Amino acid sequence: QCSRTFKPTNTIVHVGKVPFGSKEIAVIAGPCSVENEKMVHKLSREIKRYGAHVLRGGAYKPRSSPYTFQGLGEEGLKYLQDAAFASGIPCVSEVMAISDIDLFCKYVDALQVGARNMQNYSLLKALGSVDKPVILKRGISATVEEWLNAAEYIVNGGNSQVILCERGIRTFENSTRFTLDLSSVPVVKKLSHLPIIVDPSHAMGNRDLVVSMARAAVAAGADGIMVEVHDDPNNALSDGPQSLYPKQFNHLMKELHIISQVI
Ligand code: PEP
Ligand code: MN
Repeated sequence: QCSRTFKPTNTIVHVGKVPFGSKEIAVIAGPCSVENEKMVHKLSREIKRYGAHVLRGGAYKPRSSPYTFQGLGEEGLKYLQDAAFASGIPCVSEVMAISDIDLFCKYVDALQVGARNMQNYSLLKALGSVDKPVILKRGISATVEEWLNAAEYIVNGGNSQVILCERGIRTFENSTRFTLDLSSVPVVKKLSHLPIIVDPSHAMGNRDLVVSMARAAVAAGADGIMVEVHDDPNNALSDGPQSLYPKQFNHLMKELHIISQVI
């Protein structure tokens, strides 16, 4: 059902009122984690001022180590929702467990499935009966075919609002955190009618490299990007090194605007 042969025309998925898959580039920005009420409100205002369309922020974090910050849980979702509402934009956060889905639906406009859960088929099936869009990240070692099959689980369950998100895959190369597979953008566009966005933050792992690949993603035909922004990245509780300073994000938005005019 996700394939172009099944449906030749592009699908547009709305997060709140923001279309993904239309001619306009959609930008999701915000902190890796919601750390406290004040920071998410401040960042929401800033990213909105610079032209972002959707606020992101993790409240249930899939951390590699159980000894690091795990997120604020429901409190974090509440801060995220309030901050997004105050700036007049929708919000998205990652859901890790089936048992949290109903809670998420109270607070967010779209549910994110993280790379580590792309093959959590029971979670995907459960999201098939949710009436909210799902942002499905590519698994760390998933082929495009496996990724599209994961999307198929959600769509087959009755929820056709799926946005794919390339976030880098694990290869032998270790000069970046993951290897951003930008070739998946035109490949997915060929195979599927679903919108595809790119997250250069988690792929690159270093803010100075994020900017280049965000530009490249838009040039490659992505329907949008997801990027981490933090006002004090040196003291961030997660993913500080890859988080853009608000000023860098502002500059990037101007560049993306120019690039999207010429493609
Ligand atoms: C995230 O977006 O916060 C995240 C954990 O991303 P990923 O699942 O791609 O690692
Ligand atoms: Mn992160």
